[in-house]
Amino acid sequence: MKIALIAHDKKKDDLVRFTIAYQAIFQEHELYATGTTGKRIINETGLDVIRFRSGPLGGDQQIGSMIANNDMDLIFFFRDPLTAQPHEPDVSALIRLCDVYSIPLATNMGTAEILIKGLERGDFSWRIVAKKEEGPIHFDK
Ligand code: PGA
Repeated sequence: MKIALIAHDKKKDDLVRFTIAYQAIFQEHELYATGTTGKRIINETGLDVIRFRSGPLGGDQQIGSMIANNDMDLIFFFRDPLTAQPHEPDVSALIRLCDVYSIPLATNMGTAEILIKGLERGDFSWRIVAKKEEGPIHFDK
């Protein structure tokens, strides 16, 4: 399963703690993250994480592109609802694409706890079927 990890600055500690708590589950999957979030997770957990650009520099859009290509299965995006973000349009676009393609998305710790337990139970295996049926979508289609 391909999983994206993103956290706004004031939520990075929470997401790092979350990945430490569920490291045994996360290490079974292919992890992607925006630049700074990924760096912190790698440094503090040792998990393998493929890093994109920092969020404000296009990282959210790079993850959005994977969603649009049917190539991302689950998103943990710990948003900070109390701080204005310079890349707010990118944040909205990413959330919108999750809704367009029915990709499970946790924007806070409460939902993240439910999704990670679902992931452990195999609740998202339908994504494997969805990918087999449709396959990754490429730009020439
Ligand atoms: P960052 O990006 O991990 O590079 O800080 C996250 C974001 O703000 O979208």
